[in-house]
Amino acid sequence: MTVDLAVARTRLADARAEATARVASLEDQHRAIVEGSRWTTDDDEHDPEGSTIAFERAAVASMLRDARQDLRDLDEAEGRVDAGTYGTCEKCGREIADARLDALPAARRCIECNALRR
Ligand SMILES: [Zn+2]
Repeated sequence: MTVDLAVARTRLADARAEATARVASLEDQHRAIVEGSRWTTDDDEHDPEGSTIAFERAAVASMLRDARQDLRDLDEAEGRVDAGTYGTCEKCGREIADARLDALPAARRCIECNALRR
């Protein structure tokens, strides 16, 4: 195994800090949209801004789900570091290229298996 686990932990910690900040920022945006829309009106049909607010709220909620999923993926990746399986493709069992782990610390498949997507 040539994966440097200290490097892996640092990358995962950096990615976690980024994802945590992203979740916090999106939660703030979501709250602002929800509170802002409460001060205008609940009547979407007669409010020209209503549909825009609903669209923004859905877009932020979707990004928030993605950011929370990233955090879960990072949790799992940290579990794989502890288990000694980090950096090994879950599909073919070969090593995941370091450049890929650098870009995507929570990657669970090598680039070839990921391209095949099965
Ligand atoms: Zn693979």
